[in-house]
Order: sequence, then structure tokens, then C-alpha cells
Amino acid sequence: MAYGMVSDRPGDFVRKAMRDCTGMEICEEWLYDLGVPEDQIEELARNSANTVPVMMPFASAYFQPRESGDRPDIVPDGSVNFAFIGNFAETPRDTVFTTEYSIRTAMEAVYTLLNVDREVPEVGAVI
Ligand SMILES: Cc1cc2nc3c(=O)[nH]c(=O)nc-3n(C[C@H](O)[C@H](O)[C@H](O)COP(=O)(O)OP(=O)(O)OC[C@H]3O[C@@H](n4cnc5c(N)ncnc54)[C@H](O)[C@@H]3O)c2cc1C
Repeated sequence: MAYGMVSDRPGDFVRKAMRDCTGMEICEEWLYDLGVPEDQIEELARNSANTVPVMMPFASAYFQPRESGDRPDIVPDGSVNFAFIGNFAETPRDTVFTTEYSIRTAMEAVYTLLNVDREVPEVGAVI
């Protein structure tokens, strides 16, 4: 799977914006970026790959610039019976775009609201 963040600028090889490209054209641009010799690109993209483009505008929402206060705290001040969980709840302990983020926010919500004396597992690199 490949994920393209900038869909509105022309490519270096296929001079079209990604959102206007066919799957084969996206594959050609990707092969070019990988350094595949130009005379092999069309053949490889046509016969050795099956590229199915999917537009996911909401996926990029995770990465929008934000500052403290834009997203609700997991357990807002004064809350005793509700919490916010998932990648759009604010926590200083994690970085968005992971299932772990959602799970940690849920753990923090439960432990806080039910006074459970347990730590949410720290973020660690998984290789
Ligand atoms: C392309 C892509 C690749 C990713 N790759 C990875 C990866 O490699 N590793 C990783 O850890 N994470 C990855 N993520 C992120 C990860 O998928 C999400 O962070 C995670 O799925 C969020 O889980 P969640 O349960 O909080 O929310 P979601 O999975 O978004 O679940 C929310 C659910 O609520 C439902 N819903 C919404 N509104 C309502 C409503 N009003 N009433 C009832 N139901 C509603 C939705 O239909 C959805 O089923 C990726 C995400 C994307 C988009």
C-alpha cells in the first residue's frame, strides 16, 4: 500500500495531479520516484502491477495542524461519567494515526473515571 499526502500538485513524471490520475499513472509516478529506468516504467505499471486508487480525504484529518484546546481532553475537567476516546481526543502521551492511540485513550478514560490504579502503557517503538 502506498499513501500520497499531496494530491493536488503535478507529478515529476506524470504531469497531472494525483487526484486526476488513473491507477496506472499513479504507479508510473511511484516507479519513477523509486528510480526505475524510464523506458521500463510503462511496461511495469501496465503488466506487473494492479493499482487501485482510493481517495481518503478524512484520513489526512489526523495530520491537520492543531494546538492545545482544539481537541477535547480525554476526561474533560469536571466530567464524572463521560470521556472522549480515539485519535481526535487530546493526550500528551502519543502521536496520532495508530490504533494504539485509540486504545491508550480508552484505557486512560476507564482508569480515570473508575479510579483504577493502573498506568496506561508507555509509547514504545515496535520494530
Ligand atoms: C490508510 C490508513 C492506514 C492506517 N494504518 C495504520 C497502521 O498501519 N497502524 C496503526 O496502528 N494505525 C493505522 N491507521 C490508523 C487506525 O486505523 C485508526 O487510528 C484506528 O482505526 C482508529 O480506531 P477507532 O476505533 O478510534 O476509530 P475508527 O476505526 O474510525 O472507528 C470509529 C467507528 O465509529 C463509527 N461511527 C462514526 N460515527 C458514528 C455515529 N454517529 N454513530 C455510530 N457509529 C459511528 C465509524 O463508522 C467507525 O466504525 C491507519 C489509518 C488509515 C486511514
